[in-house]
Amino acid sequence: MRITDIFEKEKRTFSFEFFPPKNTKAAVQFGINAGQLMKLQPSFVTETCGAGGTTDDKTLDIVDLFTNKLKFTCMPHYTCVNATREKVAYDMRTFVDKNIENVMLLRGDPPEGGPFPENPDGLNYASDLINFVKKHYDHFCIGAAAYPEKHPEAPSMKKDIENLKKKVDEGADFLVTQMFFKNDYYYKFMDKVRKAGIKCRVIPGLLPITDFRQIKRFAEISGAHIPEMLQKKMSDVIDKPDEVYNIGLDYAVQQAHDLLDNDAPGLHFFTLNRSRSAVEIYKSLADNYKDLRERYQESFTPHVP
Ligand SMILES: Cc1cc2nc3c(=O)[nH]c(=O)nc-3n(C[C@H](O)[C@H](O)[C@H](O)COP(=O)(O)OP(=O)(O)OC[C@H]3O[C@@H](n4cnc5c(N)ncnc54)[C@H](O)[C@@H]3O)c2cc1C
Repeated sequence: MRITDIFEKEKRTFSFEFFPPKNTKAAVQFGINAGQLMKLQPSFVTETCGAGGTTDDKTLDIVDLFTNKLKFTCMPHYTCVNATREKVAYDMRTFVDKNIENVMLLRGDPPEGGPFPENPDGLNYASDLINFVKKHYDHFCIGAAAYPEKHPEAPSMKKDIENLKKKVDEGADFLVTQMFFKNDYYYKFMDKVRKAGIKCRVIPGLLPITDFRQIKRFAEISGAHIPEMLQKKMSDVIDKPDEVYNIGLDYAVQQAHDLLDNDAPGLHFFTLNRSRSAVEIYKSLADNYKDLRERYQESFTPHVP
């Protein structure tokens, strides 16, 4: 199903992002955790791809499994790092053949870091990729990325929002945000987004801090700020994983409540292929929100350290 058709039925959506497991052990863990999360009846799920297309085949295998065997709406992420138009056309045709109706179109980052290399075929920004896919494959419902604290390379928020508008004008149907740890960033961003004339849904991305060292690293790379108070609390218990987990969970629960109370159009969980925190957040929200209560079913919360 196209995600925009899901929007017609659901005032807010609850979705999960997974990434392709790297090895057999990770694949078993992924299966157990994804199985638990599917019991929560997500509106849709997404599957990331590696920088520079390094995990393309694995991404497709998992999206194929979710879409055609498990019958969930699943959206692959797709980037244009070093991609020719011919390759993009081939990959989109493969998605069509696999009954995939949604695609998250991104510029991506070079796998070895550093500046984005000049694309051989002029696909230098997500908006170029969206333009190309929309022109040749009107079939797809298209998602794209948004940055409440601005994209790290953008010279200003104003410029970044102008570029965001290009993505929507070229055909992005909805946006999913980068992680943020203070809802004010999202609310202020949304004011600017609406003033810029962007009307589509902008779904907040939620990343519960379950492993402080790891998520601090992610946050630094993506330019997301973790509030000082939260950093201090986490640092004080850094070698006690259960305490770190509980602080991160409480914080994410508060963030989720506040977002839903302020009319966010749902939540997109960056699950890191783990189910425990998302299941516990659902459980805590289920008391307050009927739409989540209907989805939430008792699930166990596996935690494989
Ligand atoms: C929800 C989400 C999911 C993601 N999933 C993945 C994934 O699966 N795999 C992966 O590798 N990466 C993923 N990323 C990371 C993403 O690829 C990087 O953040 C990348 O640096 C930017 O991608 P983009 O699509 O936002 O790029 P763009 O929208 O192209 O923006 C990149 C930069 O260029 C600027 N810009 C855009 N258009 C123009 C223009 N016409 N002229 C000048 N400047 C311009 C923007 O302001 C921004 O600074 C994800 C990010 C998010 C938020």
